[in-house]
Amino acid sequence: MNSMYFTEEHEAFRQSFRDFLQKEVVPHIDKWEKEGTVERFIWKKFGEMGYFGLNQPEEYGGLGLDLFYTVIFLEELQKINSGGFAANMWAHAYLAMTHVNKEGDDRIKREYLTPSIEGDKIGCLCITEPFGGSDVAGMRTTAIKKGDTYVINGSKTFITNGVYSDYLVVAAKTNPEDKHKGMSIFIVDRDTPGISSTKLDKLGWRASDTAEIAFDNVVIPAESLMGEEGKGFPYIMQHFALERLVMGINAHARAEYAVDYVVQYMSEREAFGKTLDKFQALRHKVAEMASRVDMCREYNYSIAKRLNDGIYVVKEASMSKLLSTKMADEVIYDALQLLGGYGYMEEYPMARLLRDSRLGPIGGGTSEILKEIIAKMVIDKKEYRPAT
Ligand SMILES: Cc1cc2nc3c(=O)[nH]c(=O)nc-3n(C[C@H](O)[C@H](O)[C@H](O)COP(=O)(O)OP(=O)(O)OC[C@H]3O[C@@H](n4cnc5c(N)ncnc54)[C@H](O)[C@@H]3O)c2cc1C
Repeated sequence: MNSMYFTEEHEAFRQSFRDFLQKEVVPHIDKWEKEGTVERFIWKKFGEMGYFGLNQPEEYGGLGLDLFYTVIFLEELQKINSGGFAANMWAHAYLAMTHVNKEGDDRIKREYLTPSIEGDKIGCLCITEPFGGSDVAGMRTTAIKKGDTYVINGSKTFITNGVYSDYLVVAAKTNPEDKHKGMSIFIVDRDTPGISSTKLDKLGWRASDTAEIAFDNVVIPAESLMGEEGKGFPYIMQHFALERLVMGINAHARAEYAVDYVVQYMSEREAFGKTLDKFQALRHKVAEMASRVDMCREYNYSIAKRLNDGIYVVKEASMSKLLSTKMADEVIYDALQLLGGYGYMEEYPMARLLRDSRLGPIGGGTSEILKEIIAKMVIDKKEYRPAT
């Protein structure tokens, strides 16, 4: 336990969440990985345990806890080795629900946030489009105001929880002429006529439903607008700080899982009459892997602390995601190697871990885009400010 950040209460939460995952989730993981979705009952159980409301306001049924409960939630989800299951849960709690809490008005919070916390409604966040995900401001989906409604047309892709969610948080252009200032955020019920989803097949995150979603003349009431019209872009950018830190934390946690697994494996597996952990070349490899994990983890904790204190950590969160996801990919690649042929087998954890990890440098802002942002801040002295 790192007592700089975690109290005894945090650690008690970690232990109880770990026990819950072992009992309620782990027995189903292989099935969900095969079927490409998780069953509805587990959402409800997460809701009943309060896991979706850790950082949400008490007024709407949340627990109002500090960010280190979220850190524990994310870390422990990674350590049961289903990046897809974890993604379903954190995309709901930290992508969709963040927008609902921050931009939704009281009615929206009562109708969507409270049931989301309780596990009765699942959300997804729809930003990426088939024509391009990195260029968020260049999106083509429109939401044109008509009387007291908006009419949405366009398409989104690679949306986590995109098939089975009950509501969609959708970014669309309310003023298509204007690149950055013309975007707004809406909350849309899944059963609104004109919405169709197609499930996508993919390399990893196989327990997660990732979808392409089409909006064909989808009419929604004007009060489905979240926050102010035209502020969608700054809202998205603002929440990217949390989203990227989430992905950085996920990365250090799965790499830590890989190192722990490999240390145990090497203490049992023998070659040339001795266990693998006696070979100096392999010992040095593990020493380097463990050092890299520690460096990222401690950095991520310090950024989580600053974010928890209300500091806008857009640069630091971008750096966290950039380097932690790269580190995780490399550490997991090496961990697989240390298992030899067993590393390549599905009955051992590294094959799935390697597949799942590969999404890290892509989703939620690719490494190239993160480097662009960091370069602008470091070289051009550009300052990003939160939306007001
Ligand atoms: C499994 C999965 C789940 C996802 N979940 C969600 C979700 O829930 N919601 C959501 O909205 N999105 C989601 N995404 C989308 C993800 O955020 C995008 O895939 C990502 O932002 C990249 O967009 P793109 O795929 O369109 O790549 P593109 O933008 O087409 O980029 C292609 C390549 O070009 C590079 N590139 C692009 N522009 C530049 C530039 N200016 N300089 C240098 N290099 C550049 C990119 O880094 C990348 O390597 C998910 C993606 C996946 C795969």
